[in-house]
Amino acid sequence: MRAAFAAGAAALLLGCAFWPAVQAQSPGVCKPGPDALGIARTVDIDATRGPRYGNQQYPDNHFLRDGEVVLTFDDGPHPTHTPAVLQALEAHCTRATFFMVGQRALTQPALVRDMALRGHTIATHTWSHRDLRKVDPIAARTEIELGISAVQRSLGTPAAPFFRFPYLSDPGSMQAHLKSRNTGIFSIDVDSYDYKTRSPTMVVQNVLKQLEVKKKGILLFHDIQVSTVGAIKPLLAELKARGYRVVHLRADQGQTTVAEFDKRIDRDYAGRRIASLPVAQRGVVAPGWEANIQSGGPAAVGAPQQLPQQQQPLRPMRRDDDWRNNIFRGW
Ligand SMILES: [Zn+2]
Repeated sequence: MRAAFAAGAAALLLGCAFWPAVQAQSPGVCKPGPDALGIARTVDIDATRGPRYGNQQYPDNHFLRDGEVVLTFDDGPHPTHTPAVLQALEAHCTRATFFMVGQRALTQPALVRDMALRGHTIATHTWSHRDLRKVDPIAARTEIELGISAVQRSLGTPAAPFFRFPYLSDPGSMQAHLKSRNTGIFSIDVDSYDYKTRSPTMVVQNVLKQLEVKKKGILLFHDIQVSTVGAIKPLLAELKARGYRVVHLRADQGQTTVAEFDKRIDRDYAGRRIASLPVAQRGVVAPGWEANIQSGGPAAVGAPQQLPQQQQPLRPMRRDDDWRNNIFRGW
């Protein structure tokens, strides 16, 4: 993406010299029309010593001005939902940061590379989305490092040294680990709660209501959630109409990997074994929507996207539903 990434790529050579590098196109190729959000500002983040962002958990930012938002998407990539999100972003010539789950990234290398080529920032979100407060430090470190190696295995070039804890569950020992790895920790300011609703309208309302109070912030979505697939177009239009501006995060340098975990990815998860990864294959939230998940490669971005219909009878929602658990529980 930038010259700084070349240094990161060199650091990665030990682990993946045979993977072709992907050069991200520079933002600006897309020319936003008058109704498009575009990118108001790009912020280059120096992740040295693990800075933390997002006022929901951390006090030590803020790089945003009133009216500015950062778009972030967790838990993907998803073979059909993520391309639908990409298409909506592309229509606004805008960029986001994607915090990917390693297992899912491994199964979608073409999609991961396409996202980088479109100028989005690729970051990591563990290997299998475990709650790192509920596992011992060795397992937690493995989750973080395997996730980084897996994402870079698919990306073919260093990801951004940006990390988000699953469930925002951030044990001190792992914050210290990320600090030692010069990896920035990203919490949130505004939660779309897309994992608690099937309604795109609710997602739009959740974001706009919080923004009215907070005026700015890092917005959290999940590109595996059908509610966000339905919400993203109207939400982007509403953000534009209300005068919000998108800030794009970019890394000063690439994320390094640890050779031990690169080897584990190559040794244990090469070839057909990737297809058997539980989290990678696990669907979204309910059988009706599982049908929308294609087992083959990613859907082409730019092809007509059909928003998923709420076509199947689904169990009633419970107040404490968190659909991330439907995807990742038990692994
Ligand atoms: Zn997550």
